[in-house]
Amino acid sequence: MIRTHPNRGGWLEVVCGPMFSGKSEELIRRLRRAEIAGQRALIVKPAVDNRYDVGHVVSHAGSKMRAVSAGSSADVLRLAAGYDAVGIDEVQFFDDGIVDAIESLIALGARVVAAGLAQDFRAQPFGSMPTLLCVADFVDKLEAVCHRCGGPATLTQRLVDGRPASFDGATVQIGALDSYEARCRPCYEPGERSERATA
Ligand SMILES: [Zn+2]
Repeated sequence: MIRTHPNRGGWLEVVCGPMFSGKSEELIRRLRRAEIAGQRALIVKPAVDNRYDVGHVVSHAGSKMRAVSAGSSADVLRLAAGYDAVGIDEVQFFDDGIVDAIESLIALGARVVAAGLAQDFRAQPFGSMPTLLCVADFVDKLEAVCHRCGGPATLTQRLVDGRPASFDGATVQIGALDSYEARCRPCYEPGERSERATA
C-alpha cells in the first residue's frame, strides 16, 4: 500500500478486516516505520485483550511491538497525547468515546492508525467501527484466507463445539471454549437466532 501522507497536521488511517487478515501485522509495520523515521510512536490496546502478552501487540504471524493497555477511551487520550504516531489495536473493543479521543489526538497533530474488526461474528458492524471508517482519511480493508475453500475471506466465523455460534451469543466471551475461522461469504454460516430474539 503506497500512498502520500499529508505533510502537516494529523490524520486517521483505519485498517480493518476479519480475524487472521493481518491487521495487527500491518499496524506494527506502520508504527515501526514511523519509529525508524524518528517519530515518537506508541501502540495502545484495550485492557481486555490479554490474548498473548500484556506488554506487547503480537500478530498471528509473530511480529511484536511493545504496547500499553488502556481501560477506556479516556485512557487512550491520556496515554497517547504528545505522540507523533499512535496505533490503536482492537479498536472495536473501546467504548463510544474512542471516536472523540481519536479526533482529539488528530487535533494535536497525531497520525492515528486504528486497527480492528469491522464486523463481529454475526457479520454485524462492530462497536465504533462504522463511524471510524466514515471519518477516516485512509481506509484499508484486508482479507484473510477462507479456512474452508482457500478463497478470499472477509468474514469471521465463530464456532462453539465446532458448530456456528448462535446469533444471540455474547459478542465477547473471554476464555470461552470457542474458536474462530476466517470465511468467505459463501462459506460463512450464520448462527441461529433464538425464539426470544426473533419474537
Ligand atoms: Zn470459502
